[in-house]
Amino acid sequence: LNNVRKNLFEIKPYSPGKPISDVKREFGLTDVTKLASNENPLGPSKKAQAAILDAVANVNRYPDGGAVSLKEALSAKSGIPAGQILVGNGSDDLIKLTSETFLHPGDEIVVPSPSFSQYWFGAQLMDAKTVAVPLKSDFEYDLEAMLNAVTDKTKILYLCSPNNPTGTYIREADLQAFLDRVPSRVLVILDEAYNEYVTEGDYAQGIDFLKRGYNVLVMRTFSKMYALAGLRLGYMFGRPEVLDAINRTREPFNVNMLAQVGAVAALDDEEHVEASRTLNRAGYEQLQGGLGALGYETVPTQGNFLIFDTRQDDKELFDALLREGVITRSGTALGIPGYLRVSIGLQEENERFLTAFEKVVSTLA
Ligand code: PMP
Repeated sequence: LNNVRKNLFEIKPYSPGKPISDVKREFGLTDVTKLASNENPLGPSKKAQAAILDAVANVNRYPDGGAVSLKEALSAKSGIPAGQILVGNGSDDLIKLTSETFLHPGDEIVVPSPSFSQYWFGAQLMDAKTVAVPLKSDFEYDLEAMLNAVTDKTKILYLCSPNNPTGTYIREADLQAFLDRVPSRVLVILDEAYNEYVTEGDYAQGIDFLKRGYNVLVMRTFSKMYALAGLRLGYMFGRPEVLDAINRTREPFNVNMLAQVGAVAALDDEEHVEASRTLNRAGYEQLQGGLGALGYETVPTQGNFLIFDTRQDDKELFDALLREGVITRSGTALGIPGYLRVSIGLQEENERFLTAFEKVVSTLA
């Protein structure tokens, strides 16, 4: 072990939402509801499923390493040239590749806190330091503080909007003012994994800023609204020279054939996206209303998940909910002790969560 890079020992492997199979086994349950990983509860688009089944017959061949058809489809949708798009094995892959491209030992990244843990992972992997800037007390971004955290060593600054786990977002005017003040040598990454769920009109779209010439890298994913989390596919838009550099760290076939084919079909299935969006809004109102009736106020969210202050030990609550067959995410694990994060599910899943929550809070109180 003497030869292992020391910084790797600081990395705690990512702990994902508890799998349904684990909970079934552990608690002897047959029916478990998972509202833990911000997945699309409607399931994948039928068109995407058909395209994937069709492509299965060709998996003896390598996928298109350049993902040409997929990039063309993404380009047509976004108005960003295909040469300014890179795809990865989930946006997790893109975060890792970008970290490998830009971070030297001792460099710094600036991240909001709480936010998605993989930014920190990418930095740690490269022996770089993560400077975490707390969100304000209402979980809104403190962009002024993030700006003040930038030093000569800062190479990357991450913004996650809507932010996981809080659901809060960055407004257009605020991002404009921010980008006008960030030194241009700092790469600003906008992680927009939940972009398609946004309903607020003043939301800052990262690609608008890329089009205006700012040095931003905009990351998106097929794991959320496009319901292909199991296939692993993320993509990003950026300046050609930035993507050219990152592309050098990429494995030749980092996105598999079924993901590429499924994604093109999913992009084309507007109806499924609209149905998912409608379901998410209704589910949000249901959870917000249901929790409100029990005396718990939820934090306004633009994602497919929400958080709320449980005013008790969230780990105990999380465990008690597991025993009822409902998987959520404990805030302690996400850097917001006392809170619970719940992904917005199908109507009956949300109902089951609300019923279980009402039952367990009364026994724990
Ligand atoms: N960014 C954010 C903010 C996320 O919440 C997630 C998934 N939980 C990811 C990136 C990673 O997504 P992917 O499945 O594309 O790797």
